[in-house]
Amino acid sequence: MAGITAQPGIMQIAPYVGGAGGDRGANVVKLSSNENPLGPPASAVEALQAAAGEMHRYPSTDHASLRAAIGEVHGLDPERLICGVGSDEIITFLCQAFAGPGDEVLYPEHGFLMYKISALAAGATPVVAPERDRVVDVDALLEACAERTRLVFLANPANPTGTMIGEGELARLAEGLPDQALLVIDGAYAEYVEGYDGGAALVTARDNVFMTRTFSKLYGLGGLRVGWGYGKAEVIDILNRVRGPFNLSAPALAAAEAAIRDRAYAERCRVENARMRTWLARALAEHGVPSDTSCANFILARFASADQAQAADAFLQERGLIVRQVGGYGLPAALRITVGDEEACIRVADAIGAFMGGAA
Ligand SMILES: *Cc1c(COP(=O)(O)O)cnc(C)c1O
Repeated sequence: MAGITAQPGIMQIAPYVGGAGGDRGANVVKLSSNENPLGPPASAVEALQAAAGEMHRYPSTDHASLRAAIGEVHGLDPERLICGVGSDEIITFLCQAFAGPGDEVLYPEHGFLMYKISALAAGATPVVAPERDRVVDVDALLEACAERTRLVFLANPANPTGTMIGEGELARLAEGLPDQALLVIDGAYAEYVEGYDGGAALVTARDNVFMTRTFSKLYGLGGLRVGWGYGKAEVIDILNRVRGPFNLSAPALAAAEAAIRDRAYAERCRVENARMRTWLARALAEHGVPSDTSCANFILARFASADQAQAADAFLQERGLIVRQVGGYGLPAALRITVGDEEACIRVADAIGAFMGGAA
């Protein structure tokens, strides 16, 4: 291509590989992308269908109606909210707006891959801080901060470990950051933790904290691509300058609004996930496969070695059970397994039992 080359950083990006889907045969269960096994709420499906007849119209540019609904449900000022094409887009906006060549974007060792991808895409330098036994280490993050640190990303609960840190630790991190750094608390799994606000109160209390959330996990709308962020008004204003005016489609906006107003559905999904998560973790432990206590909708199953984890993955695949290898997250001896419905959990537990029985 002669002199036509990508911007610095772009060629260092390893393209994101989504959770495998399998051949979608009748007996195949996809447990590789942390999708809601109960599907989308019926209220959201109805809203989507109702919006279909209006698809010749451009969507709202300011997402006022969805922001008002989010504000009501979470008790937040809608003026301080922004909506994106999944929270992935919010992460992209943050990197685009706050980090460029020479700047550093910091995240923990097993942090979500999109932080690195978005940092590199913005020309910034990704920096990794070690974790302690698969738990975010606030001291290590603070130690890794430098003059050029502009963004610090942290998922709480974290993916793919499922662990989380307490609100006191989050506050201590925010307090200790250098002046020019913004802390981004990624709350993709916050809804699964009863009584946890995802870091919202910390955002309200401090100027240097931002929170991202998504409709892709508990709300079962991964295919529609809707996420949102909550931050200081000045930060929201900056992000809105890089946001495309029609980034979200009208049907997606309508479905997301119906979903977040459907509190009964959200509660049912949270309770059912907790019930099956406990069951699955115990069943795997009984088969000799430990996991950290998960606060999300998946379990990080730990095997004796990378070879054993790969063999287990192949064994599960042969039985139509698609889970996620997490070597790309620095966890080659583990498999991330989404908490499915009861039938799926029983199938996974039985298959791992058979695998471990054979391996022993
Ligand atoms: C799934 C996930 C997201 C959500 O991505 P969307 O773009 O909103 O679908 C964000 N952060 C983490 C850590 C996730 O696991």
